[in-house]
Amino acid sequence: MQLYNIKHPEEKVSFKQAVLQGLGKDQGLFFPSEIPSFSPEQIQELLALPFQERAAKVLGAFIGDEFSPEQVQELVNNAFNFPVPVVEVEPGVYTLELFHGPTLAFKDFGGRFMSQVLRLLAQERKITILTATSGDTGAAVAHAFYQVPNIEVIVLYPKGRISELQEKLFCTLGDNIKTIAINGDFDACQALVKQAFDDEHLREVIGLNSANSINISRLLAQITYYFEAYARVPQNKEVVISVPSGNFGNLTAGLLAKALGLPVAKYIAATNANDTVPRYLASGKWEPHQTQATLSNAMDVSRPNNWPRIEELFRVKNWKFEQDLFSAPVSDAQTAQTIVALDGLGYVSEPHGAVAYRVLKDYLKDEQVGIFLGTAHPAKFKGEVENILGREIALPEQLAKYKDRPLLSENFDADYATLKEFLLSHTAAAKAHK
Ligand SMILES: *Cc1c(COP(=O)(O)O)cnc(C)c1O
Repeated sequence: MQLYNIKHPEEKVSFKQAVLQGLGKDQGLFFPSEIPSFSPEQIQELLALPFQERAAKVLGAFIGDEFSPEQVQELVNNAFNFPVPVVEVEPGVYTLELFHGPTLAFKDFGGRFMSQVLRLLAQERKITILTATSGDTGAAVAHAFYQVPNIEVIVLYPKGRISELQEKLFCTLGDNIKTIAINGDFDACQALVKQAFDDEHLREVIGLNSANSINISRLLAQITYYFEAYARVPQNKEVVISVPSGNFGNLTAGLLAKALGLPVAKYIAATNANDTVPRYLASGKWEPHQTQATLSNAMDVSRPNNWPRIEELFRVKNWKFEQDLFSAPVSDAQTAQTIVALDGLGYVSEPHGAVAYRVLKDYLKDEQVGIFLGTAHPAKFKGEVENILGREIALPEQLAKYKDRPLLSENFDADYATLKEFLLSHTAAAKAHK
């Protein structure tokens, strides 16, 4: 698959190069030069397949020129080795539960697929992965790469702005996983990562790679479960899918599924109070506000880094925002009410899924079926959910075992020079380079 840099279309790379490089010149995002598409008959055949087999076919349409069908199937089988259930929460409304992987969040899909691809590519030289997380990416990336040879992971996260349990899940691993709590918000962490990628010297010395939602391998991985969602609901009605959105990687993947031919009638981008996109769609003006801390903290992003890909996709497909996308924000008060309402239906949710459900419910018409993406297990937001529901919820074993381990994080100000010094003196790749 060939990809181009959206900011500099003359910069073209292969899929493998794009995975290694993360970003193009001037922090431009890579975008496929050609988006494959399936005929309606082929879509029906795909929908009839089991998840892993279908996923390999969908991904093969993109990367089949760089990996054999057997390799693609192996990448898929290793990466997606957990269930992806669809649950009906009330008549006509379903949730796709994306939180049954090792870190109980949907970012396991992207993180694990990317680690499988990089495992194949890291045989040549040491790789350092630098990523910023608002909570779940970091955990997914850390677990996906834990003890993978020749790869080291540095995760930056906003100090005090992720849940204690989230922090425990990825800041207690050690070994090839290093974590840094930054005195600042997620956007400050993201800005540091971007600065590091702009630093050509550093990039070369430490074999820098990013694993956040800008990496194309993560996006491709996420396309696969939209097919699963669609396959598991009644298809005699229009299907609407609501995506709880922060950096908009998940929604980009959903829209790519549609571009491949999956007949989703409408996508909903549900946000919290960080509502840059719904305001943009209403006014045509891109005016990010200061990032606000909310209950759905993995979506506390006011400058969503995947948005340029969505613009690009709408441009090349000639789609119209008014027609193909609906977007609305949900306040914390509404989020809490919605968690209570879902509990009343017998479904224990968490803030991110609740945001998606809420906008879906307000939008959905009788003649449609709705799917909202469940992006995290409620136990990952145990404190918040227990406060709202007024009762305890169980902690699954995957989380319980990290609870009492000591945090191993460093703590830095949001200062690039400090970070650079650390990367040049503490990473295995830098040491090997000397
Ligand atoms: C990352 C995350 C989101 C937002 O996904 P994007 O791809 O960044 O839009 C939503 N919910 C949870 C639980 C997340 O971790």
